[in-house]
Amino acid sequence: MPAIGGKYLGVHSELICANSAYFSRDANQGRTHYGFPGVEETVLNCYINWLYTGTICSKEGLLGLPGVEDPEYVALAKLYNLSKQIEDSNFAGAVTNAFLTKLRERKSSSSKALPGVSCIALVFSSGAPTDKLAQLILEAYARDGNLSDLRDKKAPIHPVFMHELACLLLETRAKPNNTGGLQRLDQCDFHQHPRGAACDVENRPRKRKRV
Ligand SMILES: [Zn+2]
Repeated sequence: MPAIGGKYLGVHSELICANSAYFSRDANQGRTHYGFPGVEETVLNCYINWLYTGTICSKEGLLGLPGVEDPEYVALAKLYNLSKQIEDSNFAGAVTNAFLTKLRERKSSSSKALPGVSCIALVFSSGAPTDKLAQLILEAYARDGNLSDLRDKKAPIHPVFMHELACLLLETRAKPNNTGGLQRLDQCDFHQHPRGAACDVENRPRKRKRV
């Protein structure tokens, strides 16, 4: 049962233990309450909602920073960081799929920009640049990005992101067959399972979707 600020959010332990390695390790030790300092209650609620319904509620926009950049990318980055904290690889995959779907749905209008500096900071501050969501954001910028997605923002751009993006662009230019739009990306390349292994993310009995 995750707990935030003294308010306990109840979850059936069989359900959360079947998904999260973090919780299943503790299951036999009688622990019933967990604190997640720094994780917003809305983020935990989103995860619990996904456990029961298979729905990622990132489009509600409550988790992001309205007016600064697309809040859904910020929300998805927070959900992804939680998935790593609780070691739920299927949830990580579901969040990554939602992220890729959103990238592919992007239109050229300025309101549908790529992930902005806040999202990038969340992803690149909490993990290595080899992290799967970090890789997806780098691919999106290398294939589809332009400077206006990063300019005119108050916050600085994460330096590791800029370094990795420069390297990826040079690599991509050296291998022309590697280019192409986001439609050509294989979503399994951004899941937690090894390349070529069976994919559990989409093979769930419940329908997974964003609302
Ligand atoms: Zn997969």
